[in-house]
Amino acid sequence: MKQATGRALLFDGVPGTLRLENREIPVPGPGEVLACVTASTICGSDLHTIKGRRQVAVPTILGHEIIGVIAEFGAGADRKDLEGNILKPGDRVTWAIVGNCGHCAPCVSDMPQKCAAGFKYGHELDREGARWAGGFAEWCLLAPGTAMVRLPESMPDELACPVSCATATVCAAMEAAGPPKGKRILVAGAGLLGLTACAMAATRGAGSVTCVEIDGHRRQRALEFGASQAMIPEPGFAGEFDIFLELSGSNAAWEWAFDRLALGGRAVLVGSVFPAPDTRISLERVVRRLIGIRGIHNYAPRHLLEAVRFLEACGNRFPFAGMVDGWHDLADHAMALRAATMPGAGRVGFRMA
Ligand SMILES: [Zn+2]
Ligand SMILES: [Zn+2]
Repeated sequence: MKQATGRALLFDGVPGTLRLENREIPVPGPGEVLACVTASTICGSDLHTIKGRRQVAVPTILGHEIIGVIAEFGAGADRKDLEGNILKPGDRVTWAIVGNCGHCAPCVSDMPQKCAAGFKYGHELDREGARWAGGFAEWCLLAPGTAMVRLPESMPDELACPVSCATATVCAAMEAAGPPKGKRILVAGAGLLGLTACAMAATRGAGSVTCVEIDGHRRQRALEFGASQAMIPEPGFAGEFDIFLELSGSNAAWEWAFDRLALGGRAVLVGSVFPAPDTRISLERVVRRLIGIRGIHNYAPRHLLEAVRFLEACGNRFPFAGMVDGWHDLADHAMALRAATMPGAGRVGFRMA
């Protein structure tokens, strides 16, 4: 399986374009782990970057929803996964979007995703020491401090790929929102994060799960993922909600939902990961209604393990497997990008031969 060179897709900052390159397969250094990437899905944030809506250091290998097989451990590399399993070459794994040091100020304050020395897959400048840092490539070199989870053999790639982004992020958002049992949950957006949130809230005993989404096809999907109702955010709607999970990145959704937060309501904002105009907020309403607002960006390793367990237990109860519209070879990147940007598209991914 191992060759002298492997393929990687680079983004050079030219909107809409990726470039395929052959490069030497690395030997893992101290603490590093070499993984043979088996599949990687294209996240909405990858698309923002490729379209030029989000500035990143280039060139870079995008892709952070990655699964792979362990090829080789560098000297002294941590072989334990988050569940305590001792990993070995050949094990099928996924890993946290950020490798973290464990002792800087953000790390010790339960914000490992903001580690001062963090290594973020699919976001690193392609440079010496970070030449295989993203999922759109045949190999990935895991930095020391990257939390891994062994994947159940029965879990299809379609479920397993988004674990390290969408599913784990929703786990972090749900934790920030507090227990959903009996609560009226509002989810904005029915992309993969929103759908995952609907499914998670429904399986955890939410009183009701309402999804607001402007795309009719996506609204239909929300119902298949456990939403009790799916609607457009109508100005005249008079209901209220205990928990609001903002997964759309839309200011309009925020404003609509904020006005409908119940007494003691909690809003968790996740979707706004690209530049947008400021939005209005009544501070008096926050105070008098005892409203809590939290931002969640990425997640901590425990959420990755929780994400795998959630999909293992509940993944088959919802049509998660159907969320990946198609797999492409790295060489067919132009076709993959076209498919991923079609209206109503689900996840599109790269699967390595
Ligand atoms: Zn992502
Ligand atoms: Zn750190």
